[in-house]
Amino acid sequence: MRQSRLFTKTTKNISAEEKSLNAQLLTRGGFVDKLAAGIYTHLPLGLRVINKIGNIIREEMNALGAQEILMPALQPKANWQVTGRWDELDVLFKLKGDDSKEYALGATHEEVVVPLLGKFIFSYKDLPISVYQIQTKFRNEKRAKSGILRGRQFLMKDLYSFHADEKDLGEFYEKIKESYWKIFERVGIKEKTYLTLASGGTFSKYSHEFQTVTDAGEDTIYICKKCHLSINKEILADINPVCPECQSEEFDVKKAIEVGNIFKLNTRFSGPFNLRFKDADGKEKIIFMGCFGIGLDRLMGTVVEICNDENGIVWPANIAPFQAHLILLKPDDKESAKEAENIYDALQKADIEVLFDDRNLSAGIKLKDGDLIGIPVRLVVSGRNKGKIEVKERAKEEVRLLNLNEIIELIKGL
Ligand code: ATP
Ligand code: MG
Repeated sequence: MRQSRLFTKTTKNISAEEKSLNAQLLTRGGFVDKLAAGIYTHLPLGLRVINKIGNIIREEMNALGAQEILMPALQPKANWQVTGRWDELDVLFKLKGDDSKEYALGATHEEVVVPLLGKFIFSYKDLPISVYQIQTKFRNEKRAKSGILRGRQFLMKDLYSFHADEKDLGEFYEKIKESYWKIFERVGIKEKTYLTLASGGTFSKYSHEFQTVTDAGEDTIYICKKCHLSINKEILADINPVCPECQSEEFDVKKAIEVGNIFKLNTRFSGPFNLRFKDADGKEKIIFMGCFGIGLDRLMGTVVEICNDENGIVWPANIAPFQAHLILLKPDDKESAKEAENIYDALQKADIEVLFDDRNLSAGIKLKDGDLIGIPVRLVVSGRNKGKIEVKERAKEEVRLLNLNEIIELIKGL
């Protein structure tokens, strides 16, 4: 894409009330725009990142055999009354329709997915099933001060699984843990992410959160120094916890953000909706469920909190908006302009996603913008290197002169 055609611009002027680093960098770089507290537009660069995150999640969910659906955000009150959550869930946005019927904006989708699957599950032969969606959630969050880490409207992948018994749910739960690790590895935050025991609410003893360590985090976690299991402070009765895994009493205490959450719902929602199946003996039995979430915007914001330096964002290669940033330093110089056009063509032919800075701006501005936007590989065409291109990786200091083939090899290898 030509940067001269990109309708967004980088900006220095951001609202003083935007205190969080993720929102500051993403706004300055032209990735998101704030409409109101906790409500953001994804601009072209930001949407490219979100789509890449979404596709990584999709691949891992599909590999588990889960099927993608898209459920409505507008949900009738009656469904929420079945589970009691119309009155219980304090973050629920409620609306009135013309016909004096009331609706909720989906904060989560158990109230839709359980009756939905009830139309398709009859016997043990229909189980297990897992369905997921990537969809907009609405929550009237009290504190929406963490930029895109805590939105009032945000994208979530939520997967719901349906099982004949607790054992089958338990096995699926372990499989999904593994696929979450793959997702966090692919988006570049695995090393800072800890499997964390959290409260299970009324449904089970514990749930598990995936907590990524960053000072921007809203949670406090205790990381066991011996086995690296972590425990959310919210479930710790005493200040000297003992690790339930290895009995060690030594912990690192860190701030962290919950990027994902996995829950054994057991029969909490199948009960009220009477979601049952016939087993092999023809007996009716209740279905066991799990639910498994990951916030896409929150994941993008978490990556930004972790991957940055004083000049801007440093995107991990798998989720960068583009693979390469081609910068024409002197657009007036006909020969180097022609060289840059040729490189742009050749990279596209090699299936490399390139942002081509062909704008009529000073070299200083272009290089600064390049660092702020944070694309992994910067290619500078200046007309003085006789066919070679100045290559700098965003995360490294070193500048190298390489030819086109070497550059393609470098980018494909990242
Ligand atoms: P939190 O404890 O942070 O309020 P939660 O426990 O209510 O989150 P879930 O309902 O389990 O979150 O949602 C699944 C995932 O959705 C979370 O792990 C997180 O990644 C994301 N998420 C939840 N709330 C928000 C929000 N307000 N803004 C952005 N992402 C969110
Ligand atoms: Mg939580």
